[in-house]
Amino acid sequence: MKFEDLQLSKSILTAVSEEGYTNPTPIQQQSIPVILEGRDLVGCAQTGTGKTAAFAIPIIHNLHRNIGTSKRHKVIRALVVTPTRELALQIGESFETYGKYTNLRQLTVFGGVSQIPQVDQLKKGVDVLIATPGRLLDLHKQGFIDLDHLHTLVLDEADQMLDMGFINDVKKIVKLTPDNRQTLLFSATMPMQIRELAEMFLNDPANVQV
Ligand code: AMP
Repeated sequence: MKFEDLQLSKSILTAVSEEGYTNPTPIQQQSIPVILEGRDLVGCAQTGTGKTAAFAIPIIHNLHRNIGTSKRHKVIRALVVTPTRELALQIGESFETYGKYTNLRQLTVFGGVSQIPQVDQLKKGVDVLIATPGRLLDLHKQGFIDLDHLHTLVLDEADQMLDMGFINDVKKIVKLTPDNRQTLLFSATMPMQIRELAEMFLNDPANVQV
């Protein structure tokens, strides 16, 4: 299979081909069509499998396609929650790379640094927000983050968020988003608490395992 077979917009195919990718990895082959369709998904995959592009590419496609017709741009329509600053920055770079020929605006926020530049960017408006749980809740509590128009929520490295004690924060975050959102959950392992989380918050998800 080639990326061209996945019915992605030209602007994304160009960006992907400039990265030197020719074929989608197995997680990408399985996840991209499901996410394009708008379905929920549970992905059991480790880092290194191409997991980030597996969700970033179809999210960019869906938001980009929508942006021409909808007046709703520069409001948060995709949110990626991930456990660490390093992962958040990597995911932010991926959205930047695959979305470079779209006019989507993306922002990465995490704790341990001043919130002032993050708040400035939020005030300008973002389409895709990548965040660690604590800082996200902090900024939301202060009224800087509006999740009312969210289309897609990604819970990335869910098992690591559990191990780091973020599970209650994650539950709080999900409850701040609209019920009709699309939810994507990725985890390297599937302990019981993650399966319960999926059962609680996902709607008839496709299961992808690599
Ligand atoms: P990840 O699993 O998201 O951490 O991605 C692992 C690495 O694989 C990253 O450095 C990506 O740039 C790279 N990558 C992702 N998708 C592809 C692909 N289809 N072909 C070649 N490399 C890829």
